[in-house]
Amino acid sequence: MRRTVNIPACCPHEDCGKSLLNNEVQVGRRPSVHLIVEKGKKRGDIYLSSWYDDFRCVEPDELHLLPGDKVKFYCPYCGKELPFVEKCACKAPMVALGIEGNGSVRICTRIGCHYHSLEFGNTAELIAFMSKVKKAKS
Ligand SMILES: [Zn+2]
Ligand SMILES: [Zn+2]
Repeated sequence: MRRTVNIPACCPHEDCGKSLLNNEVQVGRRPSVHLIVEKGKKRGDIYLSSWYDDFRCVEPDELHLLPGDKVKFYCPYCGKELPFVEKCACKAPMVALGIEGNGSVRICTRIGCHYHSLEFGNTAELIAFMSKVKKAKS
């Protein structure tokens, strides 16, 4: 078993805040994180792994996503684009996803740039999240 955490991602927009976890499409035997991805003028459903630091995902075939492509991500419920946070080291924009009840994670919008990994903004947030997970279990 991988020793990592599973992230309950949700929409970062306050008036929506819906859980993005999808039980029908699983990645790594856990519900995936469902988002709408847009490349050019086409949109499709993308399902990211909800495991922290796991880069697997289920991509929409019809978009032919290639490494280096820049894409946009939208919430599948409210339809709003995920908010820009900062520029990634690769110069593409990074956008934020919410975590239920606790902070946010960011993803890069460039395909192949760990864009589908869930990364915490800083180590303090990760430690806070980990201790919360532990408390919930005990
Ligand atoms: Zn939303
Ligand atoms: Zn990047």
